[in-house]
Amino acid sequence: MGSARRYVIQQHSASTEHYDLRLQTGDVLRSWAVPKGPSLNPADRRLAQPVPDHSLGHGDFEGVLPDARRGTGAVIIWDEGTYDLHPTARDGAKTLADALERGHAAIELHGHKLRGGWALTRVAVPPAERWILVKMRDAEADPACDITASRPESVRSGRTLGELSP
Ligand code: MN
Repeated sequence: MGSARRYVIQQHSASTEHYDLRLQTGDVLRSWAVPKGPSLNPADRRLAQPVPDHSLGHGDFEGVLPDARRGTGAVIIWDEGTYDLHPTARDGAKTLADALERGHAAIELHGHKLRGGWALTRVAVPPAERWILVKMRDAEADPACDITASRPESVRSGRTLGELSP
């Protein structure tokens, strides 16, 4: 996985099931936990809670985490690919890290399930920092598609989180 702009979403069974959105900046994966997962409906605003950076290697992990204290610890690679800054972003951000510092990142995802424009916007600052993930209105938007329900499987193995759980 040599891309300098990796994009990964891992579905993860912890105290609750959630989706971990990870975007590479430099040699780490900036990460957000998205409880309800992404939506292809531009009217949906999905909460994204920042979590600590993860290593690039963690983005390749699929399996059962051995140290899970709650939930099963199961993780699948629900989607992956690369991202770019969105071509219509006019806020002058040169890099994702720069955009995130300003509190708004417009990105284009090149994944198997998620494509086209997405916006990540900071709506509350620390200590209760929160972001919102929204699909942009473009050809890849699809309000009728419930993507987490219709495509629950790993893009690497085809297994679902339930099939992986011990
Ligand atoms: Mn997680």
